[in-house]
Amino acid sequence: MADDGGRGPGGPRGPGGPAVHGPTVDDQTRCVHYATVLDVVALRFWCCDRYFPCHLCHATSSDHEAVPWPVAERARPAVLCGVCRGELSVDEYLGCGSTCPRCGAAFNPGCARHADLYFEPAPTPWPAGRSVL
Ligand SMILES: [Zn+2]
Ligand SMILES: [Zn+2]
Ligand SMILES: [Zn+2]
Repeated sequence: MADDGGRGPGGPRGPGGPAVHGPTVDDQTRCVHYATVLDVVALRFWCCDRYFPCHLCHATSSDHEAVPWPVAERARPAVLCGVCRGELSVDEYLGCGSTCPRCGAAFNPGCARHADLYFEPAPTPWPAGRSVL
């Protein structure tokens, strides 16, 4: 049986792939906050298991605080490319050099600056090296 999987409970399906919540302005996950040509990724939030275009969208569309994606779950898909609607794991996204490994679309490299809003930072390999004041 052919099934593309992830058929949600009712509602019209967009161009394919999982639904993106929040004030999007087009079908490539751009939102009212980030709408440049490069802003084509949506992030899944651990707290509600939903895709949002950005952390501000989550804040305005949710009644709870965002929980970043846990380090231990980085092999699971948590990033959606709005161009090909393919899902990337966190590891794939952080290692892709701001280019979709599936369709070659360019991602906004500025997102890496606040990646810790979406993904729990990896633990340091030297736990004893932390300075505690
Ligand atoms: Zn949430
Ligand atoms: Zn937004
Ligand atoms: Zn893509």
